[in-house]
Amino acid sequence: MPRPIKAYIHPDAVRHNLQVAREKASQSRVWAVVKANAYGHGIERIYPALEAADGIALLDLDEAVRVRELGWKKPVLLLEGIFTEGDVKLADQYGLTVAVHCDEQLHQITAARPKQPIDIYLKMNSGMNRLGFAPENYRASWERAAASSGIGGIALMSHFASADEGSVDWQLERFDEATCGIPGDRSLSNSAATLWHPRAHRNWVRPGILLYGGSPSGRASDIADVPLRASMTLCSEIIGIQNVRAGETVGYARSYRANADMRIGVVACGYADGYPRHAFTGTPVCVDGVITRTVGRVSMDMLTVDLAPCPSAGIGSEVELWGEQIKIDDVASSSGTIGYELMCALARRVPVTVSQ
Ligand SMILES: *Cc1c(COP(=O)(O)O)cnc(C)c1O
Repeated sequence: MPRPIKAYIHPDAVRHNLQVAREKASQSRVWAVVKANAYGHGIERIYPALEAADGIALLDLDEAVRVRELGWKKPVLLLEGIFTEGDVKLADQYGLTVAVHCDEQLHQITAARPKQPIDIYLKMNSGMNRLGFAPENYRASWERAAASSGIGGIALMSHFASADEGSVDWQLERFDEATCGIPGDRSLSNSAATLWHPRAHRNWVRPGILLYGGSPSGRASDIADVPLRASMTLCSEIIGIQNVRAGETVGYARSYRANADMRIGVVACGYADGYPRHAFTGTPVCVDGVITRTVGRVSMDMLTVDLAPCPSAGIGSEVELWGEQIKIDDVASSSGTIGYELMCALARRVPVTVSQ
């Protein structure tokens, strides 16, 4: 028998969450963002749930090719565009839309002489200071793109730095000022802006984490009023029990000391499965349907939990690490990270089942 750890991927939850995104931005079309292999879910596994999306957005050419091979006929957007002139051939062959964030990419497209003009998303750096043309150069870049051979439709794109924490107005103002009068679709909103900044919805929104039921801010409480469903469940079983005396310690570095006699459950899940090693004592975990907490350090293949709230638990008891009962965002907050990272870090050694 394999170790009892398992992940379940729920395409129905993605389908449902996509519908939520649609309703939040009902005037906009939706790019379903499936980069990083659908945030660790596996593009092929959730693909059937994306039917209602207007386009699929991702980063890697090989992922773009995979969605075309799955039969996706609607647009596919490469969020960082091409990396070499050679990529233009594939973009051309598979009919991909590509972000263009610098002059070099424009030159590469033109130099590659694609058979069909390539549709582009011309990206502005409106304040994130990662990718894109400066607002003051944007109009000139657009004019160059519009005059270039090999370029088809041009949409206008930017990305927000703090849509989950504060205002997007400062970026929106720069964007609107620099694009005033330029024709073309606009696309600005990630999940946070899709949920919280309707002014920024424009023609196309680009939700990612929302589709997977995670919180754009990393805090579960921020999406408590949004009817999202978790699309990934990580679960395992209790494989050992220790009756620990008051004063004894549990696990590496003896970081947890029992202040009374207690029953400890050992769960077959560790950081080599993608569970965060930094999760501190008190991280929520569900045993046999009862919420309890981790105690002590997470080790490579195991972690330990307090069985006081679940006296009938024993070897073989079901443990949910995250999913419908334990919010991935809560596990992430207890480990100084965000749900995004935990989803993406699900380890290859964890067997995955697709389940509705
Ligand atoms: C990842 C990404 C998104 C989606 O972000 P979420 O916070 O997951 O919604 C949108 N746009 C761009 C350019 C991205 O890279």
